[in-house]
Amino acid sequence: MKARGLIVAISGPSGVGKGTVLAKVEEIMEKADPGSVGHSISVTTRAPRGQEKDGVEYYFRTKEEFEQMIKDGRIVEYDQYVDNYYGTPSEPLVEMMDKGQDILFDITIEGSLALDRKFGDDAVTIFILPPSMEELENRLRGRGTETEEKITKRLEQAKAEIRRAGEFEYIITNDDLDKAAGEVLAIITAEKLKASKNIRTAKELE
Ligand code: 5GP
Repeated sequence: MKARGLIVAISGPSGVGKGTVLAKVEEIMEKADPGSVGHSISVTTRAPRGQEKDGVEYYFRTKEEFEQMIKDGRIVEYDQYVDNYYGTPSEPLVEMMDKGQDILFDITIEGSLALDRKFGDDAVTIFILPPSMEELENRLRGRGTETEEKITKRLEQAKAEIRRAGEFEYIITNDDLDKAAGEVLAIITAEKLKASKNIRTAKELE
């Protein structure tokens, strides 16, 4: 029987490169085992940006619809980020895990910790640090889309988030994309080999 899929919840300050690291990790996992990575599409109350389409990047819903989904128990975790709600739909997530797919999440701190509480051994939390605050500032400036005021605000928020890194199971530093992706892959491999997740296989050999 295929082992249950693993939730890989990654948090870290804006500009740290979570999305890029996750894309690299997914590329490597899919190459080694096609179809092994499942995609969770979050629900959000924020408006679509640019070419974003409902049901692709997110399910775009009103605040009332979002709150109803929470009431109906259809959201496994949710959080607020810059005045909007973001949440993970329960049913597709459990289906993917039961099929043995691993799911990679770029998610808020509270989101990661909630998934860990709910899924225990089937979830792992990783916090990504920037190599330095100077480097994080350069990366935020490099995007060229933010005002000075917004950059200062994001840096303050980054410091507050970094203070919570100790609440995660693993901490990695994104000073090199290939190295950071390799470390995430090593964590995933180790988590899947935990005795608690494989004891049934051992017992079958008794
Ligand atoms: P954006 O609006 O830029 O697409 O996303 C903003 C933030 O929301 C991202 O940093 C991402 O980590 C977080 N996020 C996206 N989906 C979810 C979700 O389902 N749950 C939680 N807790 N955070 C999410």
